Amino acid sequence: MRAWEATQYYFKRASKGLGMGQRLERVLQMPRREVKVQLTIELDNGELGTFTGFRVQHDNSRGPMKGGLRYHPDVDPDDVNSLASLMTWKTAIANIPYGGAKGGVNCDPNKLTYSELQRITRAFVDEIHDIIGPGLDIPAPDMGTNAQTMAWIVDQYSKYHGWTPSVVTGKPIELGGSEGREAATGRGVVYAAAAVLADAGKEIADSRFAVQGFGNVGMWTARFLASEGARVVAISDLSGAIQNKDGIDVNSLVHYVAERGSISGFGGAEPMPADELLTADCDVLIPAALGNVLTLENANDVRARFIVEGANGPTSPEADEIFIKRGITVVPDIFANAGGVIVSYFEWVQNVQQFRWRLDRVNSELHAMMLDAYNQIKKLSKVDHCDLRTAAFQLAISRVAQATALRGLENEAFCVIGAPHAG
Ligand code: NAD
Repeated sequence: MRAWEATQYYFKRASKGLGMGQRLERVLQMPRREVKVQLTIELDNGELGTFTGFRVQHDNSRGPMKGGLRYHPDVDPDDVNSLASLMTWKTAIANIPYGGAKGGVNCDPNKLTYSELQRITRAFVDEIHDIIGPGLDIPAPDMGTNAQTMAWIVDQYSKYHGWTPSVVTGKPIELGGSEGREAATGRGVVYAAAAVLADAGKEIADSRFAVQGFGNVGMWTARFLASEGARVVAISDLSGAIQNKDGIDVNSLVHYVAERGSISGFGGAEPMPADELLTADCDVLIPAALGNVLTLENANDVRARFIVEGANGPTSPEADEIFIKRGITVVPDIFANAGGVIVSYFEWVQNVQQFRWRLDRVNSELHAMMLDAYNQIKKLSKVDHCDLRTAAFQLAISRVAQATALRGLENEAFCVIGAPHAG
């Protein structure tokens, strides 16, 4: 099943019980705008390189659209469409005043130089600067992009519109970035894991974790887990996977990766086949790399009791149904990895107010918002006797539906009076 179909599947599974009219349902499913642009730049060797850029703006009923920008060879419209829609539901669950969008450039950042990446980014801004902006659509980093990419976007956008750091989030601190933004998604994943474990009478410190991916999300997640006394027994990245049943020394691994570029050859653990990470013997599995990695093929072999989705879309619907039947608790991406967009919101607020927050304020507000969202999802799942993903989608859809109806979608008064309220 393709990414877009998977998102639609989850949407329909949740919306069934909401009694929404067909028209409203269709409005919420379809993106408002899909943009595809050609980016031609001069490569360092003098040849021309042509890349395709996408921006999908899914929904803006609750505020300006918000979503990352991904540089990856597999970026395609289907993927970006699905990810844009997930952002709409994620911002609604976090209850921050945004809609959802996503973008990407079909390129391999590992094979491009710093200056080529800069030219691609500036060319992309040249094409889309009219449809992004602080009150319209606010990009952020995702796979293959980082604070430097955001700095180039600020610079290029500001050439057209004047100094506008709030056009993106995830910027370097020196250009208006927020304290705590880089680590926020991983921090939020750990708050989500702690909340679901606490409901089962467990703690981070007495649990064993396997983490797929050691980039922004996976690395920060593993660092916070280790700092809370957890045993991180398996970690993987593009180069392969490593395991140590007594717990990997995550801080040493961070230094090792900073020097060597990957986890391959790390001395404090044994190598293991990369695909076995997902079925490793652990209590909590955290996919934090790619989409569609938990599928019909491996879902029955997963040994974790909890799955906390750090990545976007890591679980196919077939695998999700298997996990529900097997009693494995899945903490869905649209809540579990919302820490990044929540602190992006704090960054945007700081930019708009021209006022800086201290790190302790950022982290405590993040914690409060994650817990609030978790409690609302949990309450809905208890009332409706459904899994956390269905409850999360129901909460999100009802909030977006209410905003859409209040803004004047005629004959669709249902959601103002009939939508579920989680508390
Ligand atoms: P990143 O580019 O920083 O890191 C990706 C990591 O995945 C790298 O360690 C890479 O080596 C690894 N990887 C790639 N292919 C792999 C494979 N086949 N097996 C194992 N590891 C593999 O990306 P990121 O920002 O950490 O994003 C990871 C996921 O989290 C994506 O799905 C992204 O959409 C999602 N996400 C990111 C953020 C954020 O703030 N960065 C927020 C929400 C969701």
